[in-house]
Amino acid sequence: MCVMSLATKILIVEDDGHVRRLLEAALQRAGHDVAEAATAREGLSLLDIYKPDTVLLDLGLPDRDGLEMIPLIKARSDATLMVVSARENVAEKVAALDLGADDYLTKPFDTEELLARIRTALRHRLSGNAERERVMVDEVEIDLGHRRVSRAGAEIHLSRKEYDVLAELAKHPDRVISHSQLLRAVWGPAHETRVDYLRIVVRNLRQKLETDPTRPRLIVNELGVGYRLRGRI
Ligand code: CA
Repeated sequence: MCVMSLATKILIVEDDGHVRRLLEAALQRAGHDVAEAATAREGLSLLDIYKPDTVLLDLGLPDRDGLEMIPLIKARSDATLMVVSARENVAEKVAALDLGADDYLTKPFDTEELLARIRTALRHRLSGNAERERVMVDEVEIDLGHRRVSRAGAEIHLSRKEYDVLAELAKHPDRVISHSQLLRAVWGPAHETRVDYLRIVVRNLRQKLETDPTRPRLIVNELGVGYRLRGRI
C-alpha cells in the first residue's frame, strides 16, 4: 500500500466570509489544505484547477441554486461532496442526497463534527468503491459477503428486508442514506415514498440489534431525511 499524505485538499464554496474564515481556520488546524470560493462560478473553476478531495458546498449561494451545483460537481470531479444546509431545511437535505451529495452538515455545526465527517469522507474515498466485506459497530458484526449478522458472536436472524436495509446502511457507515434511497434499493422505485415500510423494518432491526431499542445508538434517525449507521470503525 502506498503512503498517503494526511493532508486533504478541501474546497469551501460559501458566500458568507465569516463562515468561510471559521471553516478555513478549523480545517487548517487539522492539517488540511484549503481553497475557498465565494460564488458558484468561482467554485466550479477551482474544482478544475485545485482538484479537491472534498468539497464543502453551501446551498445558499448568490449566483446559482446550490442544488443545481451538485450534478455539475459530480460530473466533473470525484471529490466527496458535503453540502452545508440550514437546520430547518429538511427537504433541501433530502434533495441534495438524492442528487448525489455524499453527506450533509447542518448549520450551525461544531468543528469536531465537521472534522469527523471529513475523516469519514476521506476514508470512503481512499477505500474507493470497493465494498467492505465486514462492518463492525460495537458488538454487532455485519458480514456483507455471507449475508450474516451477529451480536457479541451470536448469529441474529433477520428477515430478508431487515437484512437488505441494514446492508444498505452498512455499505456506507456513518453516512446518512435518505428514506427514498433506502426504499428504492430495497423495495424498488415504485415504493420510494413508502416511509412506513421502512419505519417498521427499522423498528424490528432495533429490537434485534440495539442494547436499548428505545434509545438507538446503532441505527440513528436523521429527522425527516433518513438513517445513518453509526460506524466509527
Ligand atoms: Ca450562503
